[in-house]
Amino acid sequence: VSISKTITDFATLAIQAGGWMELDRIYLQNRLLAMIGEETMVPTAPSKVSTSSQELLAELVHRAQENGVVEKHPEQLLIFEAQLMDFLTPPPSVVNAFFAKHYDKSPEEATNYFYELNQKNNYIHSQAAEKMQTYTALTEYGELEMMIRPISNKAHQQAYPKCELCMENEGYAGRENYPARTNQRIIRMNLDGESWGFHYAPAAYYNEQAIISAERHQPMTLNRETFRRLMRIIEVLPHYFVGAEADLPLSSEENVTHEHYQAGRKEFPLAKAEMIDYFELADYPLMNAGIVKWPLPVIRLQSPNQEDLVSAGTEILNKWRAYSDNEIQMQAMAPDGTLQHTLMSIARRKELLYELDLVLCDSSPKHRSFEQASFLAKKQLGLMEVMGTAVISEALEEITNRSAVGQQFLQILAQAAPFEPSAAGQAAFKRFIASL
Ligand SMILES: [Zn+2]
Repeated sequence: VSISKTITDFATLAIQAGGWMELDRIYLQNRLLAMIGEETMVPTAPSKVSTSSQELLAELVHRAQENGVVEKHPEQLLIFEAQLMDFLTPPPSVVNAFFAKHYDKSPEEATNYFYELNQKNNYIHSQAAEKMQTYTALTEYGELEMMIRPISNKAHQQAYPKCELCMENEGYAGRENYPARTNQRIIRMNLDGESWGFHYAPAAYYNEQAIISAERHQPMTLNRETFRRLMRIIEVLPHYFVGAEADLPLSSEENVTHEHYQAGRKEFPLAKAEMIDYFELADYPLMNAGIVKWPLPVIRLQSPNQEDLVSAGTEILNKWRAYSDNEIQMQAMAPDGTLQHTLMSIARRKELLYELDLVLCDSSPKHRSFEQASFLAKKQLGLMEVMGTAVISEALEEITNRSAVGQQFLQILAQAAPFEPSAAGQAAFKRFIASL
């Protein structure tokens, strides 16, 4: 294929993406020529493009390398690729307008549009995701999942952008030890009068893995507003789950520096786990409340009324923060006075009901089993692990069988649980429930 044809096709895809018009074609082609270090092309009539954007990109990059305009250093290459793919990505205001237009038809159409855009422009590294292996292990709590995947290097932080979740990444070129974001776009989402940013995770672990991050760089908080926002998000995106990490670092500082929620189109093992014990909350006669059969203590609330879930969630959170139980040496406060009880919350729609899972967590040293577990690639107890999906370090791939790894993961979760799965632990959990 001639480079002229490649450039023409790439310009055609750029116009089809909606950021440019046919009138822009000559300009676009000349910009592409300059970027790959070519001086001339043979104008060819545009025709239907049958080559994928990734293949066209590879041809452009190859020619740029031959011409010596881009270094072979992998980081430089990624920065250059993102700049080329930026042509296939309309500006943020236009992407937001397209999203809104699709949303008028259905929320699903809107996320389909945005997800496809992020795949076509290579923002989501789908090739990496395809290489990822997932397998399951059957346990007494149902199937747990394990993914074998290398963890990407942590970006080197400077004053700008403050972190990878900040809005100021949108369009950022990238630099040494910091990823290229030229082709990133963020959907502005209004949650109770506050502006939040909705975008997809570039290195996704699961289907349509999305992040909704605060407009300002501020630490994770957990309060009534959190539950209200989770409810708003599943109202706006009813086909997604959404979850909030704990507001305390559970063995690592990661995840708590910039307020955000994780969302996506996946049913995690926890979502499939059943409620085993129902209890009543006096103030909410219409609510279903119960304990979930799970290695960590999980309270599940179901109601058609969002506001009831917000209030009940807040009450349980406040009770848990201050809760001590001497019988099992559980203290709300560490000897130095810091609070150590927190929770992770996950919200989802179940037909007409809203469902809120509250996973009780304890940041005291005896529950930090994740730090020591050598087979886990992530050393902190995060939302994904709590929902039953472990990311396993690559080295383990050949050496162990899946059920052994599944049992190990289960043990780690049980050690992280403030109420152990043992009879004494479960009795203590019931005492907490009775205090509600
Ligand atoms: Zn930030």
